[in-house]
Formats: sequence, structure tokens, C-alpha cells
Amino acid sequence: MYKLPDENGYFGEFGGRFVPKNLETVLDEVKAAFEKYKDDPDFIRELEYYNKYYVGRPSPLYFAEKLTQKMGGAKIYLKREDLNHTGSHKINNTIGQVLLAKRLGKKRIIAETGAGQHGVATATACALFDMECIIYMGEEDTRRQALNVFRMELLGAKVIPVTSGTRTLKDAVDVALQDLIENYETTYYMLGSAVGPDPYPAMVKKFQSIIGFETKQQVLELEDRLPDYIVACVGGGSNAIGLFAPFYDDKDVNIIGVEPAGKGLETGMHAATLSLGKPGVLHGFRSYVLMDEQEEPMPVYSISAGLDYPGVGPEHSFYKESGRAEYVSVTDREALDAFSELSRTEGIIPALESAHAVAYAMKLAKELSSEQVIIVNLSGRGDKDVSQVAEILNKNK
Ligand SMILES: *Cc1c(COP(=O)(O)O)cnc(C)c1O
Repeated sequence: MYKLPDENGYFGEFGGRFVPKNLETVLDEVKAAFEKYKDDPDFIRELEYYNKYYVGRPSPLYFAEKLTQKMGGAKIYLKREDLNHTGSHKINNTIGQVLLAKRLGKKRIIAETGAGQHGVATATACALFDMECIIYMGEEDTRRQALNVFRMELLGAKVIPVTSGTRTLKDAVDVALQDLIENYETTYYMLGSAVGPDPYPAMVKKFQSIIGFETKQQVLELEDRLPDYIVACVGGGSNAIGLFAPFYDDKDVNIIGVEPAGKGLETGMHAATLSLGKPGVLHGFRSYVLMDEQEEPMPVYSISAGLDYPGVGPEHSFYKESGRAEYVSVTDREALDAFSELSRTEGIIPALESAHAVAYAMKLAKELSSEQVIIVNLSGRGDKDVSQVAEILNKNK
């Protein structure tokens, strides 16, 4: 596979590390551990054990035959990350990182969470490995996602509401980084997406790439060929890079990332970072960012809390600039329609995040021939979103 990032954590001109000196030392320690263990046979054996017996991998690659017939074009396959323990791809990353933290001798884990999905996956991994677990969550989000707060507490985590700024994900990251600076000797920071300063984007990619490696093997078995398109939703970009990276060198495979257009790109109420942002620095790394004239990160919006972030993983910025991938966007309305369509047609309720990828794939399939193959990453299940969707649909009645 292609060798990115370089030794300083750069994907072309994106990535790197823009942090205070004291954080450099901590990140160097994490990076050294990651470099040491990522190819270590014992580490890999342990990771494979938990992936198989705890997470439930490999996740199936499912031919959505009825959806395919209904769209009347290309074959649509779903990579079923929704079937993982805890209901999304996030657990792939937290199991990998907790095994690393264990080898570093850390007993205290901190993490940020927006919707609470990464918080739940982190609390799960910490319960399994007897780690103290602190989750920072914007106060606004603790109210919107009360059930996930309870879930984390049930799993033994302490959830700390963050009351600075807009009281959402961006502020939770700021506070978590501050905690890390103060407590790095005992503490490991478990970042939830393929973002942040080096080595996090490389590390999260490594643990999520199992999605793409499995997919490649499965599609070769089922179709005896590679897909024409692979499609995933992009928030921070971890489920997407996990699917995309193993296909990077397969130039006949078209790569499409789907961003949230919210109420419409023209309304300003969206989180389409790659579509409408520009290069800048946020949370210690260089990537596309949605910024105002003062170069401050803009307030962002999406129906799906997991896609609601003004930055994006640096590797996606590199894929965009180099032309290897295309980034498109899908509105709340289209995502809601796909949410209902997949539920009715296949009996699969997708996460609202994943519904963005499904929505785009449905449009794309119609334009292609029945010999062509699209693979969609179904990053998570929609149980968490059902009450929110019920509220919206009732209001629109
Ligand atoms: C968190 C989440 C996402 C968005 O995060 P990425 O890092 O972009 O993958 C997408 N889907 C689900 C189900 C999530 O929980």
C-alpha cells in the first residue's frame, strides 16, 4: 500500500502537528508506541482476538438486492459496520487504542465525544480493560444525547459536561487536550476520528483500515472483481478512510466521500468542510476547515450529530487536492429519505450519518449499468436516531 503519511505526519501539505511544546513530548511517546507495536506479532494477535470474538468481525458485505432492483442500475453492496458490538465502526478504533494504552502502562483514558458514539465505544473498551474513563462532552450535547450519557455512565465512565464556547464537540476537544497537557504522565487521550495532530490520523486509519481490507477480500469472493465505486460518509473521516485507504492504489475504483449539506449548502447551515472550506489549522493539524473571515472555525450544522465538525481528517484533504477521491454532499432531507428507504426496502435502519452515504449511492446507482458495483460503508445502525427522526417526521405531517 502507498506510504502515507511521511515521517512527520504529513499527507502532502496536510496533517502535521501544530501544538504547544509540552504536548509534543506526549505525542512523541504515543507515536513511538504506535510505531513499535503496529507490526508487533503479539499486538496484532491480541487485536485480532478482540476484533473477532468481541467486536464480531469480519462484518458482512451484504448485497442489497431489493434496493438495487428498486434503483434499477448498479449493484449496491453494504459493508455492515452497523453489526459491530456497540453498533458502529467506532469500536474498531477504541479497541486498537486501548491495547496501545495498556502497553504504555496508562491507567486513565480521556476522550471527547459529540453525539456520544465515540464516548460509548471508549467507555466500552475501558470497561473491558479496567481503565479509568473520563469523557468530555459539550453541555449542549449532553442534553441532546442524554441516553448516551447514561450508557457511558452505566459502562463505568465519568462524563464531564463542557461549558465553554458553543458547548459542543469542538469545545470538548479543547478541554480534553488541556487535560492531556496537565496529566500526560498517567493519561492516554483516545481520539475518536482520523483527525488531530500526528500520529492520530495515521493511527486511526490503521485501526479502521480493517473495513477496507475485509471489503476487498469479500467483493473479490462475491463478484470476482473490484467495485466501480466505494462510498462513505465523512464527518472527521474515520469510517471513510478505513474503507478508502486499502483501495488507494486500485485506480479503477472510484472513491466518493459524502459530506452533510444540512439544510442546503447555500443556507450556511451545513458541515461540508471539503466542499466549501479552505486549508487552515484546527485542533493541532492542517486540513480543510470551515472558517469565517477572522479564520475562526465556523458554527456547523447537520441533522446527524456525528457529522457535525468544522474540520476533516488531513488525508481526505490530500485525497481531494490530488484528485484521488471526489467529495460530494447530501442534504438532511435526502438523508432522511434514504433512512426511510433502506429501512423499508431492506429491513436495515441505518445511522443518520450512514444514511448520507446511502442517499448518494441511490442517486449514483440509477446512472450506472447493472454490471457495475457500488459499495457503501454502512458505518452504524440507526437505533440511536429513531426518536429524533420520529420527532421530525411527526412535525412535517
Ligand atoms: C461518528 C460516526 C460517523 C462520523 O465519523 P467519521 O470519523 O467521519 O467516520 C459516521 N457514522 C457513524 C455511525 C458514527 O457513529
